[in-house]
Amino acid sequence: MPVPAPQHLYMELYDLFRATAHPPESRHFANAARRTAMRVGLLDPYGTGDDLAAWHEFAQEVGFFVDLLRALQDLGDLEAALEAMSPPWPGAYGRHRDRWQNWCRQARLVGMTPAPDRIVRELYQAGFREILPHLEHTPDGRVKAPVGSRAWVRLELAQAFTERRVRFCPVCGAPFLGRADRETCRSDRCRKAWYRKKKRSK
Ligand SMILES: [Zn+2]
Repeated sequence: MPVPAPQHLYMELYDLFRATAHPPESRHFANAARRTAMRVGLLDPYGTGDDLAAWHEFAQEVGFFVDLLRALQDLGDLEAALEAMSPPWPGAYGRHRDRWQNWCRQARLVGMTPAPDRIVRELYQAGFREILPHLEHTPDGRVKAPVGSRAWVRLELAQAFTERRVRFCPVCGAPFLGRADRETCRSDRCRKAWYRKKKRSK
């Protein structure tokens, strides 16, 4: 059953991304995936894509897009951002990076300047491909689409690329949203570490 998460779902998946240093079938990853699923619901309630391998793969996809978002904010250019990212371990993360680097090269060959719009469009398309077959009209005239967290997370990521409100924790690198005076993610450990660091540098 979906439990409303206290923050954007993709941020929960980004937490799980850290656990993908462990293989899909490991106890460490399995426990982390179970905790994430309890917060965000199934990835794909209609299909078969909810085994540990699917969670591992999707967490790495989210890790890739969030890291790319951070690199884009720092460097301002898609090709430079992709170049600066180094896949932390083999798997979906590296495959996504290779794929977008290849796309940039192809775009250059036909005289286009590679821009993140294309990534936004693909994320929306992937999200809506899962959403459209499940549209339902409710008796009170509303339209709903009960889908899993994967479709929703892809829409959230597409939005994160366009709206630029998302910021990144200077301690752990996790994305967060919040007031302008908020400097770190929600973890107490990061908040305290950042405070100590600032105090030391004064
Ligand atoms: Zn943090």
